[in-house]
Amino acid sequence: MIEIKNLTKIYTTPHQQVLALDNVSLTVNKGEIFGIIGLSGAGKSTLIRCINMLEKPTSGTIIVDGEDMTLLSKDELRLARQKIGMIFQHFNLLSSRTVFDNVMFPLEIAKVPRKEAKKRVAELLELVGLKDKARAYPSQLSGGQKQRVGIARALANDPKILLSDEATSALDPETTRSILKLLKDINRQLNITILLITHDMNVIKQICDRVAVIDKARIVEIGDVLTIFSNP
Ligand code: ADP
Ligand code: ADP
Repeated sequence: MIEIKNLTKIYTTPHQQVLALDNVSLTVNKGEIFGIIGLSGAGKSTLIRCINMLEKPTSGTIIVDGEDMTLLSKDELRLARQKIGMIFQHFNLLSSRTVFDNVMFPLEIAKVPRKEAKKRVAELLELVGLKDKARAYPSQLSGGQKQRVGIARALANDPKILLSDEATSALDPETTRSILKLLKDINRQLNITILLITHDMNVIKQICDRVAVIDKARIVEIGDVLTIFSNP
């Protein structure tokens, strides 16, 4: 579903060049939950942002669902991005919009007819367990509820892939467990491939099938979670 080959990313600032990804290759299979773990500054965020081309790779290829993202025109990229939902550590909700209208937002951008979009939003809020919060504003929600809105919004355009950037890092352990359970349900029920980045080993152990360890811009280990984190 995602095939990254020889991906290198160098950030050029006025003062220096930063090698954020050094010849990274990995494949995420359809239907799996794949975790990328590493310390702060290792390159995780850069890697996930390259997949939907929020960051432009310096070199290498990124194939998503059969399409090389690095070769697409602006219009093609807009369509390709609809296959990829994304959730964030700090949720990135619009504070002036209700829960309902936050989830509606990507459907408005995709110009989905209003009636169909409203039906879809209602279904998504049901899926994430927030039907009764539709008219609330983000400031009236707990962290876990905000992330549920983020998840519903990410699923709005019926993506094949969900990218998660430290989605549980701002949450307490119990809320983390409930969000991870929701992600696992979404993976199983909707057959959505999930790629997540985290610095938290427990996240990997709780839901990932496979894991890559990234250190100083390079992948240093990759394999089944049970093999890599088995206690000898
Ligand atoms: P992680 O997500 O693992 O914390 P990042 O991908 O954010 O790592 O960062 C990898 C490296 O790239 C770090 O050294 C970071 O300082 C640098 N970096 C990230 N974004 C930028 C940027 N926009 N400009 C310059 N350097 C950056
Ligand atoms: P309009 O189509 O003129 O924007 P709507 O009928 O969509 O008006 O509804 C107005 C507001 O009510 C919406 O912006 C949304 O916040 C809220 N809303 C609409 N449908 C629902 C629903 N099923 N559940 C909760 N809130 C809703």
